[in-house]
Amino acid sequence: MRQVTVQPRLPSFLPHQNPRPKETFLGKTMKFLILSDIHGNREALEAVLKDAGGQYHRIVCLGDIVGYGADPNFVVDWARSQVSAIVRGNHDAACAGLESLSRFNDNAADAAMWSRHVLTRKNLAYLKALPAGPVFHEGFDLAHGSPFGEYDYMCSTPDVAIISHRITTPLTFFGHTHDQGGFQIKRNGKINVIDPRVPTRLALAPRSRYLVNPGSVGQPRDRNPDAAYAIYSPAECRIEFRRVEYDAKAAGKKIVKAGLPERLALRLLVGV
Ligand code: ZN
Repeated sequence: MRQVTVQPRLPSFLPHQNPRPKETFLGKTMKFLILSDIHGNREALEAVLKDAGGQYHRIVCLGDIVGYGADPNFVVDWARSQVSAIVRGNHDAACAGLESLSRFNDNAADAAMWSRHVLTRKNLAYLKALPAGPVFHEGFDLAHGSPFGEYDYMCSTPDVAIISHRITTPLTFFGHTHDQGGFQIKRNGKINVIDPRVPTRLALAPRSRYLVNPGSVGQPRDRNPDAAYAIYSPAECRIEFRRVEYDAKAAGKKIVKAGLPERLALRLLVGV
């Protein structure tokens, strides 16, 4: 008898399976503000919220809300009241005392120790209780590094090729690299790099899986100092990558005034 080999079906982004938002807000379908790596940068966060004002219904956050920046309490207070889903980043874990600082460079370790010292007890408790990703929320996954670890870096197609067969969700948002863009895993396994500049709006293609990075709000490293974020519209199968200028000088001055390494202030001006 002839043997028929059945290829295992990988999950994919099929329009008919597209998890439509169950809820609506004032009669409109749900849109999500996707934020990552705020890193205690109040000026950048406020600029993003102003720029995106009125264009989303819920906020999700991909971790690293503290570390590096001089306003960790402001950002955690905001997250506690405003964010509908969030995962823990490696800096959140370190600042909360859940991780040793051995994996951090000197500047990151200094900032983590300083943040741990100035964070209120309530805010430290919030950071300690954050869930490690991935978290499934409203039809998509949230992760910090990768779906398999908050310290994983997904920087290149070889990084993604190693894990692509294990990704079971059509759409995963991730952060950690501070680099806006991401990856499309096509049905045949081919991996395309998503360049957020070409185009700024990403139309999610059927039968692909996506790993999408909104970029860093508070410490961009893709040679563009403007705060980065994304808006996801499930009903339109579309993700919009956005940038907004903010007062990086003011954020940097606070970093220096707090006694944190000057390099952490300077890098905000150039986006590296
Ligand atoms: Zn980060």
